[in-house]
Amino acid sequence: MNVINKKNIFRFSCLGFIIFLAVLLVRAYFVPHMTQKRLTANQAAFKKLGMYDTPRLVENLRQAIRIQTVSGGKLLEDPRTFAKSIQTFRRFLRKTYPVFFNSLEEIKLDSPSYLLKWPGQDSSLGAVGFMAHMDVVPVEPGTKGDWAMPPFSGELKDGAIWGRGALDDKSSLIAMIEATEALLQKGFTPPRDIYFIFGHDEEVGGNKGAKIAAQWFKEKGLGLDYILDEGSGIIKGDLLGTSRDVALISVAEKGVISLKLEVLSEGGHASMPPLKTPISVLASALLKLQQKPFPARFTDIHTDILQTLALGKPLLERVFLSNLWLFRSIVVGQMLARPPTAAQLRTTVAPTILKAGSKENVLPQSSSAVLNVRIHPNETVESVIDEIRKKIGDDQVTISKYSTGFDPPKKSAKNTPAFQRIQTHLQTVTGGVLVSPSITIASTDSKHFNHIAKNIYRILPMTLGKADVKTIHGTGEKISVKELKRMVRFYQLLLQQPE
Ligand SMILES: [Zn+2]
Repeated sequence: MNVINKKNIFRFSCLGFIIFLAVLLVRAYFVPHMTQKRLTANQAAFKKLGMYDTPRLVENLRQAIRIQTVSGGKLLEDPRTFAKSIQTFRRFLRKTYPVFFNSLEEIKLDSPSYLLKWPGQDSSLGAVGFMAHMDVVPVEPGTKGDWAMPPFSGELKDGAIWGRGALDDKSSLIAMIEATEALLQKGFTPPRDIYFIFGHDEEVGGNKGAKIAAQWFKEKGLGLDYILDEGSGIIKGDLLGTSRDVALISVAEKGVISLKLEVLSEGGHASMPPLKTPISVLASALLKLQQKPFPARFTDIHTDILQTLALGKPLLERVFLSNLWLFRSIVVGQMLARPPTAAQLRTTVAPTILKAGSKENVLPQSSSAVLNVRIHPNETVESVIDEIRKKIGDDQVTISKYSTGFDPPKKSAKNTPAFQRIQTHLQTVTGGVLVSPSITIASTDSKHFNHIAKNIYRILPMTLGKADVKTIHGTGEKISVKELKRMVRFYQLLLQQPE
């Protein structure tokens, strides 16, 4: 009997196709759920929290915002004003939180940043670092009038506290101290040593703050089990294009460097231009960089994020995101089409400063451009410089470092008790948010602790939607009292049960 006839081939093909579809659908159902290790919410610890006083909490953040600790921008040109503002802020903290400052041990640094130790019950257990920063970015000149409330007013309106630093990062700093004071007042001692590291110059790189604090650890030969710092948040579905909010705990961070491209020549009269001038050579180099972007590098962190997002997506998208073994190139293509998601996948190069020429009839003797480069966790400062040199492929263009470069910090593990504990506490304070590891595309102070902390987890326990994200370093920054209270609760839980 000949089974290989046309009819049978058709039947087998149909059967194969049905099995294939079934695999896709079964994966679409099960794979995203597997990303969410459902831990029991920690209700017992939740009930035992020390009480904090909400009006006081709100008032303290309002006051913190009013102190203009602006680093960078015009004010940095007057370092004395900045130094004074940080001293005022330090005095404000001390006066406002006597219990915190009298109970913890302050470690004197050659820096206005704070390093404080809260001795735990068992110093042999790995210590944990909580980081936040005191400084804020400037308000873009000419945009003050666009704010619904003045940017340094700390105004309380419609259930929100307004002003620069409300989200980034004074809310976190105040919430950490409030959480600690409430626990101290209950006579609580943490199970392990806790260090608080409050930088004063995070927004300009942290070289005189967090870096000095990290050096202290190095000199003492002390390490940290993990660090909790800013760098991500509980991201609302409207920003992610999903029906569910996702808490993104960053386990990786991009590196950063600014590079200067420079072209020199003899100059001359503009009436007899040579074929190539410093401007045309530089323009061609910049164009090449735009046309030859860095390759997309898909990592297991991307798999985790996409499979988690799948839980809040319609069926078709869910099928795609749960079957990356088959659809990865399509998904990557879509991610590359949008700058925020493209930045998650590749090293980005942004020209930010351009200089050449001073008179309309004189050929400039030099031209230069500054590139701000954000380095994918799988690359390094040196590897991207080499790559940029190759992409430009022109010896007339010299490349030099314009800023201190930071390699991407090592990736932190997601299968640690600490990560899972942070996840559980986030789920407790939100009533069960989805959680995924992620990558911070900006730079944080925690990078200075790359070799001090075994793991670094970056998240602010606050909900951020589309509208909120625009206000970070932008116009109209504010935090709702509800979110601020949630932050205090989260920190209280984590301080009580760091692992
Ligand atoms: Zn920040």
